[in-house]
Amino acid sequence: MEILRSVCPRCGKPSAGLCNECRAAETEWFTCDPRVETIYCPVCDSRKQGKTWSDTTVDRAALLQELAYSALHFHPDVRRPEAQFTFRETSPNRTAVTAEVRGLLYGVEVSGECSTKIVWIKEQCDRCNRISGGYYEGIIQVRATDRRPSTREIDRAARITEELETSLQEAGERLAFVSKVEATRDGLDIVVGSNHMGQLLASQISGALGGRLSTHPKLVGEKDGKKLYRITFLVRLPRYQRGDVVLSRGRYLEVRSATQGQAQVFDLQDGSNRIVREDEIERLVGNVGDAESALVAYLYDDVLGILDPRTQGAVECRALPWLHPEEGGTVLVIRDGETGQFVLVG
Ligand SMILES: [Zn+2]
Ligand SMILES: [Zn+2]
Repeated sequence: MEILRSVCPRCGKPSAGLCNECRAAETEWFTCDPRVETIYCPVCDSRKQGKTWSDTTVDRAALLQELAYSALHFHPDVRRPEAQFTFRETSPNRTAVTAEVRGLLYGVEVSGECSTKIVWIKEQCDRCNRISGGYYEGIIQVRATDRRPSTREIDRAARITEELETSLQEAGERLAFVSKVEATRDGLDIVVGSNHMGQLLASQISGALGGRLSTHPKLVGEKDGKKLYRITFLVRLPRYQRGDVVLSRGRYLEVRSATQGQAQVFDLQDGSNRIVREDEIERLVGNVGDAESALVAYLYDDVLGILDPRTQGAVECRALPWLHPEEGGTVLVIRDGETGQFVLVG
């Protein structure tokens, strides 16, 4: 019988050199940092990694896992490393972590335990710092020609602002913040943190509301050899807005879109579309957004009997070729305050 000469020098088991068990047993297969520091902004919860701030995209549970895992370091020969953590908040800025770790080393299952702690450090982030310091780069002023922007226009502009801020920040433009949205006597002022955002916002608002955009930069100083500008973006809305019902040459027209000096209109008498100049418009009657709903009492040839929504009294209107009401149905009307007449708008 041949004598087996290769044995493990540690445990004497047959093996060519050190056996896997002994090799695994004497390898430091993982280490655990005693503490992990993380810097976060107490106001907006952004996190600083290196010198860079970014918005936190994971919830606290996932963040705890991520931070705890970053304290562990495995030997490169470890296969399938796994860790399970238990967390305990020991103070407002300390989280104690116990880690149970497992893995496969030279084919041998290994396991162990260690503890670490997460240290939470508060620091004001770049964005909150700018906001609290009153820093801004641009102001968007929404104004209208010879009138104050309507509530509808102001609401629309405010909504566009909110949506743009969200989408830019989601795209990682941290400094695209809105520091103030203020309704003034003349319209709306929006103060923004970056000129890029100012430019985008101003063109989106003027595009949506049919305004004309002009920019007025002002040099306010220099920073790191770069000239610093604050830009006022003036969005000038036209005299008439979408949905306005106007009177022109004795006809009621609904404004479908307007630019400076002219409006694209829908003729509420014959249902045609055309363009009119502002100076052809006599006066503003109302806006379809304020239209009232009136019951159609009867139809007779080209006469339409409706009930005044306020008094329920019967009123006769001329039927319109583009409007096809039904008896018992409703139509939308606007009152012409000057003549007392009802204008059918839909
Ligand atoms: Zn051995
Ligand atoms: Zn912050």
